[in-house]
Amino acid sequence: MLLHDKFGRRISDLRISITDRCNYKCVYCRSGNNGAQFAEMPISDYLRIARVFVGLGITKVRLTGGEPLLRKGLIEMVRELGRMSTPDGDALDIAITTNGHLLAEMAQPLADAGLSRVTVSMDAVDAGEFARITRVPNGYDRVLAGIRGAQRAGLDPVKVNCVLLRGFNDDQIAAFGRFAREEGVVVRFIEFMPLEEDRVWSPEIVVTLDEILRRMAEFMPLREVGHASSETARLYVFEDGVGEIGIIAPVSHPFCGHCSRVRVTSDGKIRTCLFSVREHDLAGLMLRGASDEEMVEFILRAVDQKEERHHIGEPGFVPASRTMVHIGG
Ligand code: SAM
Repeated sequence: MLLHDKFGRRISDLRISITDRCNYKCVYCRSGNNGAQFAEMPISDYLRIARVFVGLGITKVRLTGGEPLLRKGLIEMVRELGRMSTPDGDALDIAITTNGHLLAEMAQPLADAGLSRVTVSMDAVDAGEFARITRVPNGYDRVLAGIRGAQRAGLDPVKVNCVLLRGFNDDQIAAFGRFAREEGVVVRFIEFMPLEEDRVWSPEIVVTLDEILRRMAEFMPLREVGHASSETARLYVFEDGVGEIGIIAPVSHPFCGHCSRVRVTSDGKIRTCLFSVREHDLAGLMLRGASDEEMVEFILRAVDQKEERHHIGEPGFVPASRTMVHIGG
């Protein structure tokens, strides 16, 4: 049985947050304080959840957080995920989203354990600006070393995600273009969504897909290279064929109609949309001793309630019941 929602979308992509602790305090994501903290489940519980979802046709598992590289037992967890296979008998696609601070030392062990790919979040390619955004000194060199370490470990492709905020780091657009070309990474710009702790979002702060293309063209024009409808990112190469750029535009060009995702938070709640106002307490069910079959029933009911789309920027928009760091991006 494969997971589908009532709008006919095939759900094939599971994101599991394995901690909501983070060693960065990025200004557009977290408040400067420690804020709310949600519980963590034992790694064995996340693995059980993953196994049940994989039995329902999930083909891709992304580990996230918080900062997933902070979680003890991560490498063993990846190894266990690597032992799972899809109902068709294929290996799982296993990815991690990380801020890269601890990646230089962990890339090779993660690759050896079976990690397929890594996405590194990086919102400036200037060391000073990077420190201003993350509120951590000297992170830039570590993250750059992490990116290069991931490439050396054969984690391919290495994607670098950047969230642009108008008047804050949008001066980095061309520099990221240069970075993509020189480092051989796919740089993906993500439009800023209203999911931050400090509620600073406004439509004016969002640097949209059209604007990014326009401003990058002042450095060098981009050419779009096909766009699979299931892909959240629109993909581009520079006109001379060197350097790949992706743009993920949930605000200006929503792709909810092709959403294939479901998320599990670090405390074991299923979220069917980043903007859900309601969660489904899978951890509670497991604590009550549920069988795998009962978990399947529960997951099917949760996915059946997946939201049709988000309502960012519309009158009456209701903020999500958690912010990004506590959902798992
Ligand atoms: N700590 C890991 C990292 O930095 O990649 C994983 C968690 S982090 C919350 C995941 C991604 O969400 C990062 O790329 C971050 O830039 C992005 N993010 C956080 N808040 C966001 C927002 N309000 N809109 C868009 N992306 C956001």
